[in-house]
Amino acid sequence: MPAHSLRHLTSPVIDAAQRVGSTAPAPARVTLAGTGLPLVGSARVYVCGITPYDVTHLGHAATFVWADLLASVLDGTGVDVATCRNVTDVDDVLLDAAARRGSHFDELAVTQEAVFDHSMRALRVATPAHQPRARHYVDAVVQLAQVLLDRGAAYERDGTVWFRGSGATAGLDRDRALALSAAYGDHPDDPAKDDPFDVAVWRPSDDQQPAWPSPWGWGRPGWHAECAAMALAVHGPSVDVLVGGDDLVFPHHAYQVAMAEAASGVTPFARAQLHVGEVRIGGAKMAKSTGNLVLVDDLLERVPAAALRLHLLHRRYDQPWDFATAALDDAQALLESLYAAAARPGRGDPAAPAEALRADLDVPAAVAVALDQGGESARRLISLLRLG
Ligand SMILES: [Zn+2]
Repeated sequence: MPAHSLRHLTSPVIDAAQRVGSTAPAPARVTLAGTGLPLVGSARVYVCGITPYDVTHLGHAATFVWADLLASVLDGTGVDVATCRNVTDVDDVLLDAAARRGSHFDELAVTQEAVFDHSMRALRVATPAHQPRARHYVDAVVQLAQVLLDRGAAYERDGTVWFRGSGATAGLDRDRALALSAAYGDHPDDPAKDDPFDVAVWRPSDDQQPAWPSPWGWGRPGWHAECAAMALAVHGPSVDVLVGGDDLVFPHHAYQVAMAEAASGVTPFARAQLHVGEVRIGGAKMAKSTGNLVLVDDLLERVPAAALRLHLLHRRYDQPWDFATAALDDAQALLESLYAAAARPGRGDPAAPAEALRADLDVPAAVAVALDQGGESARRLISLLRLG
């Protein structure tokens, strides 16, 4: 090939580099919870998604907006990010909610999933590369159950495959762990199992419950097993970051991790975990049962989506916080300040806000730098936070 052809082939790349600055970017380091997360080439993120039985409230939205920011920051370091965000469309919570409404669980799930997708689009959350639905991964749960049985990490009794879970409570006070297990439907007092902390990988279904064939009879997967199986099927035996709301630390993520590690033998299953602080109202957890839900769609009638997104992000991700409607006005004012900073001539290193974000997703620090430096700094931050 003549030399001028090679030059012709490479020139668009050089032009692109010159547009954003002539030097090659320095390798970026991302830290989460104070621990470095070196990445080469690609990053696998698993986000525990919704159980589609209810409208999207601000607590859900916060988790998924933070997961989206994580993906944006990782992407900004030049690695290919593959995010997997599941839909738990086979779950007893969903069955119970459908029964109360007098509707079919599948119909309820499809409807609520559409509402959720609408809210995510409004909040500019990028569509994940993988969105597995539990119902499509039942075979993977059966495989997982079989592997766990083969490795002695589970036992079968009357059609239920129980995962030996006593090791999943590591670091937790026993009474606290028992209370959380009961609260999240793991039935620690069920006399059918060897240990209170054993959980169902597979369990039999009655006539009213969804059921699939398995070597242990007709049944359905357990919640923790669904996420373990979907993560293993989509990402392989480990992920770089496991993401979810703070309320998933135990039992859900503890069991997802324990099952995946017991099945694959690869540890750790997750190199890092990102748990998003709870959104509260007057100090109380946001929950339908207490009637204090704040819905994304209602807030979007009041403020632009970018202002709501900034409000969710302008804080430490791992701290619980209280939502107050009046604070939305502050978020909108802050957003307008950022836009104004972006429009004025800048100074300083335009990469500085991105550097701040890479240090444990410190949005307040990144915003402060962007407001101070203005110009390209602010424009890049607006792009990274997807506020444009
Ligand atoms: Zn999950």
